[in-house]
Amino acid sequence: MLQKIEGIKTTLWTGLAVSIFFVVACYSQSYWLSKINLIEQVVLGLFAVGIIFTAQFSRSRYTLLIISLLSVYLLFQQQLVSNDWFIQHQEWIFLSAMFILSFLVNVKDRSLISVHGGLRLAAIFSCILLAKGWLLFGEYLTAQTLLLGWPAQLSAHITITLPLLLSCSYILFQSLRYPSLLIASLLTSLLVASLAYYQQLTLPLSAILTLLLVHYIVVVVIDSYYLAYRDELTTIPSRRALNQYALSLGRRYCVAMVDIDHFKKFNDSYGHDIGDQVLKLVAAKLATVGEGGKAFRYGGEEFTLIFPRKTIEGATPELERIRQLIADYKIIIRHPVRKSKKARGSKPTEQTKTVSVTVSMGVSAREDKQSFEQVVKVADQALYRAKKKGRNNVSR
Ligand code: GH3
Ligand code: MG
Ligand code: MG
Repeated sequence: MLQKIEGIKTTLWTGLAVSIFFVVACYSQSYWLSKINLIEQVVLGLFAVGIIFTAQFSRSRYTLLIISLLSVYLLFQQQLVSNDWFIQHQEWIFLSAMFILSFLVNVKDRSLISVHGGLRLAAIFSCILLAKGWLLFGEYLTAQTLLLGWPAQLSAHITITLPLLLSCSYILFQSLRYPSLLIASLLTSLLVASLAYYQQLTLPLSAILTLLLVHYIVVVVIDSYYLAYRDELTTIPSRRALNQYALSLGRRYCVAMVDIDHFKKFNDSYGHDIGDQVLKLVAAKLATVGEGGKAFRYGGEEFTLIFPRKTIEGATPELERIRQLIADYKIIIRHPVRKSKKARGSKPTEQTKTVSVTVSMGVSAREDKQSFEQVVKVADQALYRAKKKGRNNVSR
């Protein structure tokens, strides 16, 4: 839950920041409009940096997004489409943006120079056609509502506002399921598009694109940082983050090594996927650590808790609380029951079962002249004693 809240927080903050920038830029045009030529050159540079950068970091969804924006920009720059065309077709552009962004939420970052890349480009193209189709349907709807004497606004709401609400909810829903900064960017892009559409807040295209591109590049940098310092499965800080954190520790601190008991057996009985779910659950419980503690995934089914400025006596009650919290947690697992020959073709049946896991902990406090590695080693030896004592306990 904690990680989900973090996901929403990131989503909202980034969206808010860009929207504020956008509105401020709209109302301060008199200050910077004279420098539009410079912005037009900067935006070309940003396109190049954005494409190279996102491709280099294998963020192909961003690359696709930037290529789509670049196509619009080039059409505009080459005067293949005019300002009037933009204004005439703003509904089409807005709807296409909604459909493309909702599509991108669903795909993975796959190499662009492959079948996947081709399919994705085709899908983006289909989104644009779909938007056109939907608008034609909207026109039909308008004619019908007029005939029936219903409010004229109704069809406008159905054609534009309804898909907007649906795509926003969809993107937000996905950000709950898979918190990711890309989702934050998609939502932000949609927000900027909505402001432009509903409030008629218009900026020169190059200025809007500068804003979005800077946003994408910053997000990919932040995301790459997360990738390096967060454990992918459990989303808590990784071993690399632990080593970095160790450098900032003072002279007094306490380290606890945590290891899931009989985890191999658990994997063997229920499968690796359920094992992964349990790892996530244990990590989430460890992340609730209080008393100034911080949780890291050390590797495999081992975790580390660090308590700056704490003695073993000071940290032990919190360790005991977490150990008990994990032991008391009833994990419901659903696993498909193998079908008999007769029943094949029917829906697979599921069986639910409650299980629980326990953890053992070894704790040590830094003594004079000890390096971080040495403190970890002593905690590891304590962990070994905890296992010997019969597991599910905290040893020193
Ligand atoms: P003990 O109580 O002595 O710690 O026994 P154990 O079975 O937990 O310890 P052992 O070191 O023998 O096994 C650790 C297991 O953890 C083996 C490996 O399959 C599993 N494991 C490590 N990393 C992961 C992971 O990311 N996902 C899953 N599902 N299992 C993992
Ligand atoms: Mg182990
Ligand atoms: Mg273990």
